[in-house]
Amino acid sequence: MAKKLLAFLEQRDGKLKRAAFEVVSVASRISKDLGLDPEAIIVGNNVDNLDDVTKYGISKIIHFKNDSLNNYSTTAYTEIISNYANEVSADYLIFSNTALGKDLAPHVAVQIDAGILVDCTKLEVTGNEVIATRPIYAGKALLDVKLTSDKKIFTIRTNVFKPAASENNITAEVEEKELASINNKTRVVEIKKSEGKLDVAEADIIVSGGRGLKGPENFYLVEELAESFGAAVGASRAAVDAGWRPHREQVGQTGKTVSPTLYVACGISGAIQHLAGMSSSKYIIAINKDKDAPIFSVADFGIAGDAFEILPALTKEIKKIKSQ
Ligand code: FAD
Repeated sequence: MAKKLLAFLEQRDGKLKRAAFEVVSVASRISKDLGLDPEAIIVGNNVDNLDDVTKYGISKIIHFKNDSLNNYSTTAYTEIISNYANEVSADYLIFSNTALGKDLAPHVAVQIDAGILVDCTKLEVTGNEVIATRPIYAGKALLDVKLTSDKKIFTIRTNVFKPAASENNITAEVEEKELASINNKTRVVEIKKSEGKLDVAEADIIVSGGRGLKGPENFYLVEELAESFGAAVGASRAAVDAGWRPHREQVGQTGKTVSPTLYVACGISGAIQHLAGMSSSKYIIAINKDKDAPIFSVADFGIAGDAFEILPALTKEIKKIKSQ
């Protein structure tokens, strides 16, 4: 019997998240290289876009349902996934390194006695093994590492692995399992949305502001540029600690790790703890009045100048281009 790989697909409010498509793409590729049988596992109640995932080169999607699974529950999700992984003797499991994945994957690892590597930015098959690349020392170095345990769990950094439909022509069979009883000891009771704003962890473009903005009243400059790009607003810890911005916007070692296509850092010095959260962005633009600021060492494009002059000019130009 082929070894089994399970891809955990995250949903929120009955919709599979973008990260779910990243996970299933990686699962499909690795399974092909290792000759594994890939399956996807979804926990929740009604999930709208299940069909969207059937073309990603996996053989089966198992969907565990129950009314009380609308919101995340550490205990319930851990039990459901661990039981299923044991039932089908899964050797590999892949999760996204989202807030939920970071909570869930280690719990599952303990339950099924698996080794775990978190926040992987590359997963490659060499010979018969998966070699994972993980940033260490706040992103200063990359570590190539493999698990020697029988069962292996990987969490993958969001926005690094691009979702790609599989070339092999498998259409996944969907199996729904209604669960009778749920171990809901710890559960999310309510999810408060951040006023419809884009989450930095999921955004493709982020405009972040730091202490160089001088005060909360000037963040409208960052917000306006973000709006013109259709981007999320991020912040350095200095801006968050000062109470200028909410913690959910903080990027960095003690905030969120982001990998957008474009990251614009405004009035941010580029301390190592900030770089830890954003240096894997595809393109980085830095705006800083100090031409020697460390942020310029990771930037693809740098503007050495006053953010108070540059931001409005940039917003005006972006709006002009977008309106053409
Ligand atoms: P500053 O370092 O004060 O930089 C402000 C910058 O703005 C300067 O470079 C200045 O030249 C520029 N500037 C000033 N005026 C203007 C202007 N008019 N136009 C353009 N540029 C201007 N930090 C994070 O960001 N995220 C984290 O998750 C994080 N975690 C941490 C964890 C630990 C354990 C520790 C010890 C620190 C952590 N930090 C984190 C803090 C980090 O070390 C820095 O203190 C912080 O990132 C600095 O924020 P900043 O760049 O906004 O401010």
